[in-house]
Amino acid sequence: MSKSIPLGLIDRYRDRLPVADDTPAVTLGEGNTPLIPLQRLGHPCQVYVKFEGLNPTGSFKDRGMTMAVTRAAELGAKAVICASTGNTSAAAAAYAARAGMQAFVLIPEGKIARGKLAQAVMHGAKILQIRGNFDDGMSLVKAVAEQLPVTLVNSVNPYRLQGQKTAAFEIVEALGQAPDVHCLPVGNAGNITAHWIGYSEAAGQATAATSFRDERSKHAPAAMTDRRPVMVGYQATGSAPFMRGAPVAQPDTVATAIRIGNPQSWDAAHVVQRESAGWFDELTDEEILATQARLAREEGVFCEPASAASLAGALRDIESGRIAAGSTVVCTLTGHGLKDPDIAAEHVAGASQTIDATLGAVEQALGASLDA
Ligand SMILES: *Cc1c(COP(=O)(O)O)cnc(C)c1O
Repeated sequence: MSKSIPLGLIDRYRDRLPVADDTPAVTLGEGNTPLIPLQRLGHPCQVYVKFEGLNPTGSFKDRGMTMAVTRAAELGAKAVICASTGNTSAAAAAYAARAGMQAFVLIPEGKIARGKLAQAVMHGAKILQIRGNFDDGMSLVKAVAEQLPVTLVNSVNPYRLQGQKTAAFEIVEALGQAPDVHCLPVGNAGNITAHWIGYSEAAGQATAATSFRDERSKHAPAAMTDRRPVMVGYQATGSAPFMRGAPVAQPDTVATAIRIGNPQSWDAAHVVQRESAGWFDELTDEEILATQARLAREEGVFCEPASAASLAGALRDIESGRIAAGSTVVCTLTGHGLKDPDIAAEHVAGASQTIDATLGAVEQALGASLDA
């Protein structure tokens, strides 16, 4: 037997999560991601990025999956299922492997980033590429989970949001209080809802964004902050149902992780917007990719395209004054840039040249750049 040492967010926040004192966590050491202050971007505000790409499978989905799979294991489940734009399937596959369960994942054929597909394959998921989009897959897995003995681990599973709310706890702990503004990319809107639940619990304030109650937490933990942030959600223009006020039938964007036309947390997201006095906005694919590249070049942080939507929106709203000068702003970077190597490879075309393997050729190539 291995010695039991605390690992992952369930052990860290057991008193704030719906688990028993002795519930064994299915964990890969998720959470505890860095909150990185930006040095060059975001003035006259102080912008921090919460780099969720440093979770075990490279996205924030691990926070939700440790809770959902821990709960499934507790109830004796043998299999889990999800629809996914990529990261949920990677996380479900990894945590199911950890728990000794089979994962089934439905993904849109040809529309998931290569790194995410590789993860699902390596972790032994049964992968069904459907001739349809994420929204089609979501309808299917909901129906299947009602008929067959498989546990649905999409964010409609309330344990997912319970796990994901812990990111807000970490931010409050790092800053000593809640930020003024928190910006996220929005697809199904599960994560923006989860953060609001987390901030509300951290501040000891009520929210109507969830009806889920922690029936198993025995004590009301102390408040960690006396305020909650304004919550801002950014979508891609081709996939912006919150801006259109209705589902989008054929969502399209280079940011495949938020290529979702019929958000599952539609009502909750509007509650978050109202309660936090926040807003939604949209960005073009060009704006998203430009910010992804700037963040990588000017700050050393490489996130996937969908993640860059939060910072792209924040920078624009800071510039326009919609986010007030002097505000403390946190942007969630939802996933790692290595998830989507093909997009990155398109950026660097032109950044590389081929030369002879001689000292002279290397010196000549360097000289041109060093003189500039
Ligand atoms: C899942 C995901 C999102 C969207 O989160 P929602 O909870 O669906 O709004 C954004 N970015 C990345 C990288 C994701 O994997």
